Amino acid sequence: MTIRVRFAPSPTGFLHVGGARTALYNWLYARHNKGTFILRIEDTDEARSTDESLSAILSGLRWLGLTWDEGPGLQNEGAFGPYFQMARPDVYRKHLDVLLAQEKAYPCFCTKDDLEQMRNRALLSKRAPKYDGRCRDLPKAERERRLCAGEPHVFRFARPSEGAIQFNDIVKGLVSFESELLDDFVLVKSSGVPTFMFAGAVDDHLMKITHVIRGDDHLSNTPRQIQLFEAFGWKDMPAYAHISMIHGPDGARLSKRHGATSIEEFQKAGYLPEVMLNYLALLGWSTSDSQQLFSPKENFKEMAEKFELERCQRSPAVFDTEKLKWMNGVYIRQLTKDELRDRAWPYLKEAGLVTDSTDEPTKTFVREALALEQEKLVVLSEAPHLIDFLLVKEVVFDPESVEKVLKKEGALAVLEGILLEFEKLDVFTTQNTEAVCRSFAEAKGLKAGQVFHPVRVAVSGRTKGPSLFHMLELLGKTTVVDRIKKTLDGAHLSAR
Ligand code: GLU
Repeated sequence: MTIRVRFAPSPTGFLHVGGARTALYNWLYARHNKGTFILRIEDTDEARSTDESLSAILSGLRWLGLTWDEGPGLQNEGAFGPYFQMARPDVYRKHLDVLLAQEKAYPCFCTKDDLEQMRNRALLSKRAPKYDGRCRDLPKAERERRLCAGEPHVFRFARPSEGAIQFNDIVKGLVSFESELLDDFVLVKSSGVPTFMFAGAVDDHLMKITHVIRGDDHLSNTPRQIQLFEAFGWKDMPAYAHISMIHGPDGARLSKRHGATSIEEFQKAGYLPEVMLNYLALLGWSTSDSQQLFSPKENFKEMAEKFELERCQRSPAVFDTEKLKWMNGVYIRQLTKDELRDRAWPYLKEAGLVTDSTDEPTKTFVREALALEQEKLVVLSEAPHLIDFLLVKEVVFDPESVEKVLKKEGALAVLEGILLEFEKLDVFTTQNTEAVCRSFAEAKGLKAGQVFHPVRVAVSGRTKGPSLFHMLELLGKTTVVDRIKKTLDGAHLSAR
């Protein structure tokens, strides 16, 4: 049997980390089993589905590298399409007709008010609100008459009312629902558009889905979809795996309140796509030896080989931003200098530090500048701030650093002395500049810091930055000398 799994997002919002994780688990499962990963767009919520959301979902999946084998946007979409539910009206109509013919579905003419009253009555008598089935037993003639008169209606499922529905969830184990607690849910809305419940089950069958891997929040839909499979007499019921929800550190379901939740936000913040994959994979799944880092080689082949649905946890996973940051740092440190520059480039561009026509020498300079901060860099969006002072023509001074360092007694004299020494240096290397600064300090009876700090602020405008002498070497003698001179001029001016 070929494993066929699907990610079935509704394009009603951005790609949430939970959705991305569902897609990832499906993708991993398909690859582990040399199966097929299908993307199906469940766009039957006419009011909330948007093109904007669809493109956010598609670009999020592409950015993460979660490529699909069948579905929208592929040159050859696959043999089971269309993969947009709104493009399959005839399919659902035909299947509704099958149920209607067997009296397993019926039209319901209840109005919004009727349903509201039903609900209130149920709540008053402390029963779980559910449709009371009143249209199920309408006489056939009345049904026909009202249909012919064009009275607004939906189609409901005439659910079998006895017994329990049980299924063996791959993650949760044996799950059981009393049929009695289920209701005659809506199959087709008054607009003629199917509900997700109906369309999803029909498509899982037609698309030969073998495993439905989705969030825990869909658990209560499963008995309903199983009843649909049974009503149609389909024997190819997929296996189900409901993966645990993602919570914030406070134990509440992950939401905006906890910070970034969409893949796009993490991308903007400068997390690497492979870090998101590695991190999301562990949000609810672990190997027996709790491996934390996976090789991204060959599209995370190692991870796909090790992935097992059976090892997904039942309890909610907690989203830990600190761990994600740690992981991003680890991956960033593994990049080559060229890779780091390429990854950081869009962020530098956005900050106006580079452009598409930046020349080769500057590109090399940027590469070396980033390399100086590679150890420290956590997210790529920090890159512009970490290196901007190296790229600008005029240094912008941080007032606090000026106050704390340059205005200290003796600081300007140090700069004047160092300026002379630097001017004398023929070979302006890390080692030489350090040696000069150290011997200058010694000769004047100063602590190393009393020399290093003013030099750093004079050259960079701030107290924090990359290793001082590496930075001096990168900037080069001309720039360093020039910056010290300008600082002295400026400092003398403000002191007057
Ligand atoms: N369209 C559903 C959603 O976006 C997923 C349904 C499913 O996976 O069965 O939540």
